[in-house]
Amino acid sequence: MLRRIVLVLLSFLTLSALVLAATPQAATLSPAFDVKTATDAYLNSVPAADRLRSNAYFEGGYWLLLWDFLAGAVVALLLLWTRLSSKMRDLAERITRFKPLQTFLYWVQYLVLTSVVMSPLSIYEGFFHELKYGLMNQTFASWFGDQLIGMAVGLVLGGLLVMALAGVVRRLPNTWWIWGAAVSVLFLAFVSLIAPVYIAPLFNKYTKLKDERVLAPILSMARANGIPASEVWQVDASRQSKRVSANVSGFLGTERITLNDNLLKRCTLEEIETVMGHEMGHYVMNHVYKAMIFFTLEALLFFAFLRWALTWSLGRWGARWGIRGMGDIAVLPLALLIASIFFFVLTPVNNSYTRTQEYEADIFGLNAAGQPDGEATVDLMLGEYRKLDPSPIEEFIFFDHPSGRTRITAAMRWKAEHLKPVSPAAQSLPKQQ
Ligand SMILES: [Zn+2]
Repeated sequence: MLRRIVLVLLSFLTLSALVLAATPQAATLSPAFDVKTATDAYLNSVPAADRLRSNAYFEGGYWLLLWDFLAGAVVALLLLWTRLSSKMRDLAERITRFKPLQTFLYWVQYLVLTSVVMSPLSIYEGFFHELKYGLMNQTFASWFGDQLIGMAVGLVLGGLLVMALAGVVRRLPNTWWIWGAAVSVLFLAFVSLIAPVYIAPLFNKYTKLKDERVLAPILSMARANGIPASEVWQVDASRQSKRVSANVSGFLGTERITLNDNLLKRCTLEEIETVMGHEMGHYVMNHVYKAMIFFTLEALLFFAFLRWALTWSLGRWGARWGIRGMGDIAVLPLALLIASIFFFVLTPVNNSYTRTQEYEADIFGLNAAGQPDGEATVDLMLGEYRKLDPSPIEEFIFFDHPSGRTRITAAMRWKAEHLKPVSPAAQSLPKQQ
């Protein structure tokens, strides 16, 4: 769950990007310029084989969402019905009498056991699925090393969260669901605060962007939009993947804009500017803080549902599972199962929330950079791993960023309305008084 929260947070603000194509004929400005024709021309410039591969990759992700959910549910039910969960609690209680430490020891057993049991699916999803579609740059050993680091982070941070939540449930048996939501929000804020400085560097090398040809126009655009930035970061994302991306991370003073090296290598300055305009949009429109408010409301809703669902299921099967009550840490697999059901059902809601923010950032980027064609070609690069032209219902359910068609349509509309062609007839008109 922790990894999911962190991933959701990070993916919120990620514009992953890019194939460099010349502006198609139908997308060059002329009196006959038509938004839909120009958008289609950009989309059709991607070879059919590439489109099919990217669609297959992205649609595979829909199924992985379902398999992850089902496999997690089966593992949780097995832990409960075999009473393995209550045995893990018993072991922790034999080692120490100190409650918070018992909780932590239970968490260690839980995390290691479920990670091992789920590993075939996680290895397929994280490594082989990426490799199959040509997106993976890492060897298996290097990828696996990253997973172990991730697990160590999960052990520490997840352990802290679980200890805090279990303490709240034990001490405040009636109002724990409200305090549980508060603890989760504070925890998320804490992780966002430390992530760019202490967590992200465990996986990648971050350096300050030095290339003046790129840095100067970016900082000038930042000043034009009231952002007091003096530096931009770059990250060696090519260590893991071929994906192009940039993001804004951090919170309360640790904010930073980071470009990945794939983007720097593959994009023109126009494309980089439009991406940076997008990231600045996230910053200027306070998307991190708005997302925190959204998460707070959702956390309250979730904890209210959790309390109801725990009461209901423990009343029926608690004794058979060997669980003494809500304050018993052996309840964790059940609580996480309820969480996975809740967030699985809310997938379209959360995706629509982030997709809306991403669309806002796109519009901001178009206004800030004024590079609609750079935007369109970057959108095509993003199409290497995100379906370019989905049905509206597919976009609503599965897309946490707008689709290529939506983004290019916005760019072409901006182009039609803001970069007027100067026709010979207009030039010859007498000046208006
Ligand atoms: Zn974004």
